[in-house]
Amino acid sequence: MPNKGIHGSQVSDRKGRKFESETDQKRGRNRRNLDPYVMEEGRPEPAVCIRCHAVYKNKHWYFEENEFKYLRENREAVETACPACQKITQSYPEGVVTLRGDYLWHHEEEIRNILKNEENKAMAKNPLERIMRMEREGDDLVIETTEEKLAEHLGRALNKAHQGELKIDWSDEHSLCRVTWERSA
Ligand SMILES: [Zn+2]
Repeated sequence: MPNKGIHGSQVSDRKGRKFESETDQKRGRNRRNLDPYVMEEGRPEPAVCIRCHAVYKNKHWYFEENEFKYLRENREAVETACPACQKITQSYPEGVVTLRGDYLWHHEEEIRNILKNEENKAMAKNPLERIMRMEREGDDLVIETTEEKLAEHLGRALNKAHQGELKIDWSDEHSLCRVTWERSA
């Protein structure tokens, strides 16, 4: 664990980002899949995310706008930011999908729609799976996701619809999934 430091000191992970080690421990970075945003087992329930309106109950996050409104108006829930919103605020992707090749730019709209569509389907099942960024960088289209699983899913869905060359890399030291997809013509 590169970022397990002395209590309260600044440490960096392998991407060079700095964390307070004390905060890391609170986030449970050393537990399970090393995801710093994995739910603390003791998170109070119910809770609501004031950014995206997700509701947390029975150890699950889900979208239910009426329930969100009710809980908030009646002050019956802890107000917080869900793990996905925390990752978006702090630019902490767990999945990076890079798309390349001329074919991409000739079918850009269609491809973007596939990705948005797959995101919406994933998000309906699990509010924590989101695209946090989708931007052109030079000749590449780069998509960052809040969960590794979503990055893999986007790559597979795109490749199914527009056969190209798909690579999926799971780094073993950190829960980061890197997906690349390429098609020239
Ligand atoms: Zn949220």
